[in-house]
Amino acid sequence: MNEQAQIRTERIGFDQILGFTIPDRHARGRVVRLGPALETVLSAHDYPPAIKHLLAEALVLTALMGSLLKEPGSQLTVQAQAKGGPVSLLVCDYLDGAVRGYVSHDAEMVKATATTARLESLFGEGYLAITFDLATTGERYQGIVPLEGASLSEACESYFDQSEQLPTLLRVAIRSEGAHCVAGGLLVQHFPDGEEGRERLHAKDDHPEWEHVAIMAGSTRHDELVDPALALEDLLVRLFHEEREVRVEPLAVLSRGCRCTVEHYRSILSGFPEDQRVEMRDPDGTIPVDCAFCSRIIRVSV
Ligand SMILES: [Zn+2]
Repeated sequence: MNEQAQIRTERIGFDQILGFTIPDRHARGRVVRLGPALETVLSAHDYPPAIKHLLAEALVLTALMGSLLKEPGSQLTVQAQAKGGPVSLLVCDYLDGAVRGYVSHDAEMVKATATTARLESLFGEGYLAITFDLATTGERYQGIVPLEGASLSEACESYFDQSEQLPTLLRVAIRSEGAHCVAGGLLVQHFPDGEEGRERLHAKDDHPEWEHVAIMAGSTRHDELVDPALALEDLLVRLFHEEREVRVEPLAVLSRGCRCTVEHYRSILSGFPEDQRVEMRDPDGTIPVDCAFCSRIIRVSV
């Protein structure tokens, strides 16, 4: 096998997400592994390693939580806003299997921050907003938690715990070598009423079956999550082989996607009054629009 063919083969198990349920335990989950899609997001900016790591973790969490949305057109947005630390803004979103994200940071302050930083040292003071926009009903669910603790995963766990009252376990692992980056993640959630409905769980102590699943899921190793040779199905078998039944959904593909098309911005800009558009125009007659996700300027004639 030549080198290129080998790389292709190794990349087959990436940018995939697998949904599953464990009916006897009233649990549902997602397991994800990102590769090229993640690298595309990261390569749009010249991020230092600590910021790459942070954004990779945020994208894995966005894919895990976003894929809980079943209806096409529904969107998940994860946004961290902060002041006093190296990172002032982090935005990621998920729409129909496409993820994107970016981070605004102070490069000099990042250099002075320890690599095994807790959230407080990266963000200073701030909050994390998690927003689910449902396509069919137009409903919006938003929860806000402080940017505290060891990781974004921990902050997202407290979102589910506090805003949704859904006990949730999240694990994320990241391996990067030069420009290459692989990230994997696992979400397992106690969902007493199955996939449908939004009934609240009152106390997790009433549900000992969840404690067992949380222990099994919590035993996932870092290297298992990022090992391309370990298929996502096989990872679930390893974790939950004692269960009577684990139902898996069809494997879904994830991609890096953005909506910064000329047509998209033209429709937004055509809603502005002409006198405002005149002020926005460059000498060449186009209006420059900056896409922070892609780090590029789109020139719109409108
Ligand atoms: Zn874009």
